Parts: sequence; structure tokens; C-alpha cells
Amino acid sequence: MTVAEKPATQRLRITLRGAVQGVGFRPFVYRLATEMSLTGWVLNSSAGLVVEVEGPSEQLSRFEQRLEQERPKASVVTVRELAWLAAEGSARFEILASDHDSGKTVNVLPDLATCTDCREELFDPENRRFEYPFTNCTNCGPRYTIVVDIPYDRPNTTMREFTLCPACREEYENPANRRFHAQPNACPLCGPQLDGTIEDAVEALVQGEIVALKGVGGFQLLVDARNPEAVARLRERKQREEKPFALMMPSLEVAREYCEISPAEVQLLESQAAPIVLLQPKPGTDIAWNVAHCSPYLGVMVPYSPLHHLLMEECRFPLIATSGNRSDEPIAIANDEATVRLKDIADHFLMHNRPIVRACDDSVVRLTRGRAGILRRARGYAPLGVHVPLSLPPVLAVGGHLKNTVAIGVGQDVFLSQHIGDLETLEARGAFEKAIDDLCRLYSFKPEVVACDLHPDYASTHWAEKSGLPLLRVQHHQAHVAACAAENNVQGAYLGISWDGTGYGLDGAIWGGEFFRAEGNQFARVAHLRSFGLPGGDAAVREGWRSAASLIFQVFGPEATDTRVRPMLERSINVVPTTSVGRLFDAVACITGVAQQNRFEGQAAMLLENEIGLLRTEEAYPLPGGDWGPLILAVMADKRAGVTVPLIAARFHNALVTWILEVAAHEKLKQIVLSGGVFQNRYLTERAAAALESRGFVVHTHQQVPPNDGGIALGQAVMSKM
Ligand code: ZN
Ligand code: ZN
Ligand code: FE
Repeated sequence: MTVAEKPATQRLRITLRGAVQGVGFRPFVYRLATEMSLTGWVLNSSAGLVVEVEGPSEQLSRFEQRLEQERPKASVVTVRELAWLAAEGSARFEILASDHDSGKTVNVLPDLATCTDCREELFDPENRRFEYPFTNCTNCGPRYTIVVDIPYDRPNTTMREFTLCPACREEYENPANRRFHAQPNACPLCGPQLDGTIEDAVEALVQGEIVALKGVGGFQLLVDARNPEAVARLRERKQREEKPFALMMPSLEVAREYCEISPAEVQLLESQAAPIVLLQPKPGTDIAWNVAHCSPYLGVMVPYSPLHHLLMEECRFPLIATSGNRSDEPIAIANDEATVRLKDIADHFLMHNRPIVRACDDSVVRLTRGRAGILRRARGYAPLGVHVPLSLPPVLAVGGHLKNTVAIGVGQDVFLSQHIGDLETLEARGAFEKAIDDLCRLYSFKPEVVACDLHPDYASTHWAEKSGLPLLRVQHHQAHVAACAAENNVQGAYLGISWDGTGYGLDGAIWGGEFFRAEGNQFARVAHLRSFGLPGGDAAVREGWRSAASLIFQVFGPEATDTRVRPMLERSINVVPTTSVGRLFDAVACITGVAQQNRFEGQAAMLLENEIGLLRTEEAYPLPGGDWGPLILAVMADKRAGVTVPLIAARFHNALVTWILEVAAHEKLKQIVLSGGVFQNRYLTERAAAALESRGFVVHTHQQVPPNDGGIALGQAVMSKM
């Protein structure tokens, strides 16, 4: 495993939410940082309390621990987010004046995983909430998914349907109680109830049935992860061919039997956000082969709501826990809706009568370069903000088309919606409009400008055009790197490398292998992959063999070309030019026999990366100036000579790294920003980062927002700054 060595001096940003304002927190942070000889600043912003400290990495980790252990007694930290930044060379520690917009701080938190106190009560037969699936307190429970309007008070949540009993009311009104002003406070006498029993649901699971469970952010489909027939049935009914499923483990201990889990990964699993963490599976376990297919990871979470705790306590084996929807549709949230939409998928339903206001999928996180990186930002993170190094106009950013998210800019914070999904269906477009409405209402926000993708046919672009607001069209790949630069606090000029599968270029071609010299929102395209034609246009996104055929046509001529598209290529009909690195991955995956098509976005590239496994080599194919000609020749020659696929895959990845080094050396900009879906490839990202860092470059990769199109809205928002 190549984890880049951390430079001696670093900068750590910690964003804290909860009761951290007005309790002497800033002076405390100041004292602690100065005592530890760290530099940086602390400020109150609409995103919460933001701290940036700079110093030796071990000191920063120590600071983070002490911040938690020694913080003021009256403070309650409900959410914390970390981001590792490059050192800035600040000379002292300061308390900065608050953002002018900090008055707008809204108390809408993400949904929080069950706290230790509540979990203990849940399993305590003496407690009045023993085995009550909806227990919560000020430190935990649903938030974003139950709030209807602001201010965040019980009458403005879906808990308004339940009248507090005297005992719950006493807790709610007593400042000394853990449930003081816990808006969803409830007990078996006065709160929400299950419709059905946990025992029946577990019995159904044991029988191999598919159970639809009403969770926190919507319905989940559960099935025994050890039962390949049951998993196959779920795949068929959900129309999800090979995309890996996430698992819920009964506990961290059981998770350890199935996966290698590092201390940093334990921290993520047990965090308040309780996301799906992508872990390395142990060999030879009883997890069915068709749960994750050829993925090198298992997506794992541990119980994060009382209902999940009770269910997993009863059912001691790993379950698939996947969104309750058919592929491409948003997750179902209402009981009547679920019974209709999931009728043909689920055999058994376990529902309850606490309404969910908005759908929120489980978030996905993975360690890359030794840091947590969010790959899908939803439950547990939405609607939190990302602090950015510039003050924004009131901008609404509507994102891209795939993996859509939307965002609003409030001063120096960008608030991001939960992952909405691909805007392919009417339902998804409805969820998109609702997310815009939600963000604006929850933050009392009135947009004055709307930022959208340059692509003329995206549903999000159409919405923006009809909004009646001044429109800013942002080029897709520029938005990718702008997002990464902003979340990493990059100041001044940098080299932005933006690689993905598809995005509308300034020249109308499909881009996806781009290098920009960038500063603020000034971008110059300084290099790109040599262009090639996609026979059949969009069809090539799913059918990677089309990209392969096109490259073979160029390199070896018509005789060697797949006859299905040869006439098209010969006559240049319906052939769309592209510079996409994602499509180059598809082509190499096809030529090596790894994958002929993508059954989900990025599948062929993922399979090709997996081929490398633990193989390590410095050898690389030629890719001079991004010209794939010599590379394709070499791949074909290797294939004919019987070179193994893992070695071909490694040489291909290394060629991309070498090309990055070439361009970086030529452009002579110290700061390098890597973004776009291709950089979900951990081998490529870690290897490129390590190679660049060893040559003195400072490398920035995504942490708080995804490198894929889920990060586009952040980039659009920051590019609205003139
Ligand atoms: Zn609690
Ligand atoms: Zn009660
Ligand atoms: Fe993209």
C-alpha cells in the first residue's frame, strides 16, 4: 500500500457543530493552540466553529484529541469534520472576527448516530426506554430528515404529530437533562411506534427474504449477505446488475471478522455521521460472491439508529443494506409510497409512523492518501457547509447531471445538499427541485445568481435557464478542480488536473483528460489527452468496446477494427470527438479482456485498477504528451506476447502518472489539484500524489466533497466569485 508520507508541517482544519458558540470555546482554542505552539486561527462562521491549526503532524493529531478531551464543560460537539491542508506558514494563532453572515447560522444539523448513553439505555431492562426503537437525546437522533421548517423546534419537525407525555416533557424542559430541548424526544408511551415486529423481520431475513426497512433517511432493502440466491433475487428485482452492495454489520467486532480495519477507519465507522466505509475484505469469509462482485472493497457500516441496533442485536449476521429504490430512482420515504414502489422488490416490510421529510442515502467514505475522503455525501453530512477561502455572492449552484448535488453560497461557506442521484427520471428531478427548495428555506436564502453546467441538455441546466435568475455557465472540468482547490484552501496559481468520463467542453467536444493553469476563476487549458472519436456518441459511455474499436481503427486501420462500428468510423458518421481519460480506461479494459462494457459508471476502470492488486512496478507505457497512439501499440504488443493483465494494467496506470509528471514539470506550478471521477482510482491518485510530492510539488485531493460529479456544485458555487 502506498500511502504518501505526510510532510513534516501540515495544517488541520476542524469544523465543529453543536453548542459550541457562546460557551468560551474560542478563548479555549486560543489557549490550547498557543500552549502547544501551533499557529493558525479560530472563527465562528455559519458553518459552525472553524479552527485551523498549523504545525508538525503529530502535534496536530494531539491537538485534535485534546480539543475533544479538554473542551469547555458547557459545550456540546455534535458534529466534527476534519480536513488536512497544506501549510501556509502562518506566524501566530489568532481569534478572527466572525464572518459577516454568521448571524445566519441555522441550527439544522445532520442526522446523528445513536450516542453511547442512548445505546446503554436501549439495552437496559430497567430503563423506561428499554428496546424502544426511537430513543434519542440532544447528542443523537434524526435532524435533517425530520425538519419541515425553521426554526428547528418540535412544531417544525415531523415529531409535531406526537404529544410529549409528562415524563418526556419534564426531560425536555429540564436544562440539566440530557434530553433538554431534544426535539425528537420520545418514549414508548408518547412517541412513534413500529408497524410490525423486529422478530418477524429477522425471521424473514433468516428465510432469505428481502425486507424493506424504514430507516432514518428513507427505506432500506435488507437481505442476508451470506445467501447468494437471496442476493441474486435482490439484484434482479432492483435491476442492479453488478454494482457492489453495502453491508450493515451487527457490530464493530463482527466487522473485524470480515474486514481489515485500521484505527482511522474505526473512527469513521463510529463517527456521528456513521457512513458506509469502504474496507479491505478478509479472504475466505462467508459473504456471498455477488455482494460486491469484483470490487476490492466491502462497503461496511455499523448500526446507527436505535432501530438498527435492535435489529442487528437480534440478527447476528451481516446484512446487505441498500437504498430502497429501483436503480436510477430516489429512495422511498413515505409508507404508502414505499408499499407501492417497493411492492415487487420486498417480501416483507418493517415500517413505523415517524414521517421522513426528505430522502437521505447512506454516505460513502474511503481512506485515500491516509485521509478520509467522502465519495457520496448524504446522511450524516448534509446539510453541513464547507468553509472556503473566499466570500461568495448569494449563489445557487445546481450541479451536473450524474450523482447530482446542489449547493448555496453563504459568505465563506458553501452548504451542500445530500446526494440526489442521476437526473434521469422524473422522480429524481422532483428530488432535485425539492433539494433546492429545502436548502433555500432552511438557510433563509435568496439566490441572486444561479450557476449551472455548460452542457445545454442537462436537466439541471434547463432548470437554471427557467429560474429567471442571472445565469453563470461553468465548464464541467473547471468546476471539478475549482471545488478541490476551494475545499483545500488553495491560494494563487495552481495546475488543475481534471479527469473523468464525460463533460461538455468549451469547444463542444466531450472533455475528460484536461490540464488547466488556474488562478481564482481564470482557467487556461494547457494540455489534454489526444482527441479520438466515440462511435455512437453516448452509447460509448456504457459500451467500452466502442472506445477500443476507435483507437484500434486509428492505430491499426480499418481491417483490424470491430465491424459493428467500422462503417461509422470510416465515414465519420455519428462519431463524437473526446479527450476523456475515462474512455481511455474503457478502451484498455476492453483490449485486455477485463471488461467489454460498464454495467455501472466507472466499472471497467475499477476492474482494471483491481487487476494490479499488490503488484508493484515502475514500468510504464509511452504516452508522450498525452498521445495514446504509442500506448495502444505497446498494450497490443504486450497482449500478443502474453504479458499478464496485472502487469499491463500497472504499466497503463504508470503511464498516466508519468504524463502528469511531465506536464507538471513543464508548467512549473508548485500546487497541483487532482479532481474528477477518474481520481476515485486509489492506485492512480496515491501514486501520482507520491511521485509529485517527491519532486517537491504540493498535491491537493478531495476530502469533504467527492472527486466525482457530486463535487461539481461546490466548484460552480466558488466560480461565481467575479
Ligand atoms: Zn443520545
Ligand atoms: Zn414520553
Ligand atoms: Fe465529471
